[in-house]
Amino acid sequence: NQGMGSWPARRARMTPERVALSYRGRDHTYRELCERVNRLASALAASHGVRRGDRVAFLGVNQPSAVETFFAAGLLGAVFVPLNTRLALPELRYVLTDAEPAVLVLGAERDGAGLPGRHLPAAGYEALLASGSPEPIDEPVGLDDVCLIMYTSGTTGHPKGAMLTHGNLTWNTVNLLVDVPLAHDEVVLISAPLFHIAALAQTLVPSVLKGGRVILEPSFDVERTFDLIESERVTVMFGVPSMFGFLTRSPRWDKADLSSLRHLLCGGAPVPEPLIRTYQERGLMFLQGYGMTEAAPGALFLGAERSVDKAGTAGVPHFFSDVRLVAPDGSPAAPGEPGELYVQGPNVMPGYWRRPEASAEVLSADGWFRSGDVGVADEDGYVRISDRIKDVIISGGENVYPAEVEGALYEHAAVAECAVIGVPDQKWGEVGKALVVPRPGATAAPEELLKHLDGRLARYKIPKYVEFVAELPKNAAGKLLKAPLRELYGG
Ligand code: ATP
Ligand code: MG
Repeated sequence: NQGMGSWPARRARMTPERVALSYRGRDHTYRELCERVNRLASALAASHGVRRGDRVAFLGVNQPSAVETFFAAGLLGAVFVPLNTRLALPELRYVLTDAEPAVLVLGAERDGAGLPGRHLPAAGYEALLASGSPEPIDEPVGLDDVCLIMYTSGTTGHPKGAMLTHGNLTWNTVNLLVDVPLAHDEVVLISAPLFHIAALAQTLVPSVLKGGRVILEPSFDVERTFDLIESERVTVMFGVPSMFGFLTRSPRWDKADLSSLRHLLCGGAPVPEPLIRTYQERGLMFLQGYGMTEAAPGALFLGAERSVDKAGTAGVPHFFSDVRLVAPDGSPAAPGEPGELYVQGPNVMPGYWRRPEASAEVLSADGWFRSGDVGVADEDGYVRISDRIKDVIISGGENVYPAEVEGALYEHAAVAECAVIGVPDQKWGEVGKALVVPRPGATAAPEELLKHLDGRLARYKIPKYVEFVAELPKNAAGKLLKAPLRELYGG
């Protein structure tokens, strides 16, 4: 078995007594993890008929059963399908009907009311495990077998089920470890949801490979994060920029002991430069990544050594991946010119589950994946990710990249968060509207922010409107959702 399912056993062979997973104060060693995964796999096969290629869904916040189900499915050559806990009932039904799992494993806080198919409620989980055999299962799983169907975040529309193979995840791990020197003794805090690719592939999987200890949290909480960093001496954290931003706005930020932190992995959305500076002042550098579910997820990476002089870029392609930028006319975009970013490599998915047309739209015959993101490379090949193609504003025939405008707004001290959207305009077709969450205690009039932009940006890029708002809509991944913003404020 060359798949992910064998990883706990491979690790247990080397370091059985090391702690693999801590959850709510309880530690599980690699020996325990391996044994529990074996038991679960054999019981899923015996009691729920799970066979190679079958899907095994999981619905729940981060908890040990999510981790165990992922590895147990892999051991059987079955496909793990983690579901987004924030989906409403009809959306969950849609995804379950699409994935058709042999069984849905439920987290402790969930019931399966209204959901199709067979369920394994949390109350029956330990009994099922006890019925299984602790002996290893010998299923010939290869790197090209599908390991995971992971639904995209749904930032731009309906989530799509990206099929990821054992090989995709393995190569992503190799890519990551080429540049992030994870040690054997890392303490890895996971509070981002495992149903998104970053938490699973950038933290859980590499930690198991190296024999680190994962502290699994059901959700992200600022106080709890500070508590854990200080008491458990956390060394590795993954977060989207908004999570790292929340920490800096807490009263604990100034006093907190952050000296244990070695690697701060940040990605999923552009990292605002002031945030980079705020962490830098505490001696902490972000390792920034750009990627997407479909690439398992790493495409670009900015390591610590260039994180200051190349701040604001997402770096260069990972060692075993390639990226190119394609201008609107299909030619390669020159340095300084925006282009659509394409990714190729052994980490790129073979396609979307049961969606051949959607797959053909984004994957070329030679394996290049179209990201739908706009990027600009500098002379050294460092790529700045600016926007989703769908978010670009066309004002008087000029393309306005909201990310550039947002970056300029962030340079004003009163701006905690902001988003720029296009709104219809009689004269220009579209004009920008900035939605700004003010910093606590800060006061600035819209005119002052517009004055701040004057001279920093070309006239046509300056939004016509500025509106202060209490918060900006985000999805479960902590990503800003521009579609609802356009609905709310676009009129
Ligand atoms: P959907 O595809 O369903 O609309 P999504 O694209 O947000 O949702 P993910 O696969 O979780 O789903 O996210 C990938 C996207 O996140 C990328 O295509 C890009 O737009 C954005 N992204 C990821 N990392 C970065 C980064 N470092 N800088 C800027 N944007 C990023
Ligand atoms: Mg996407």
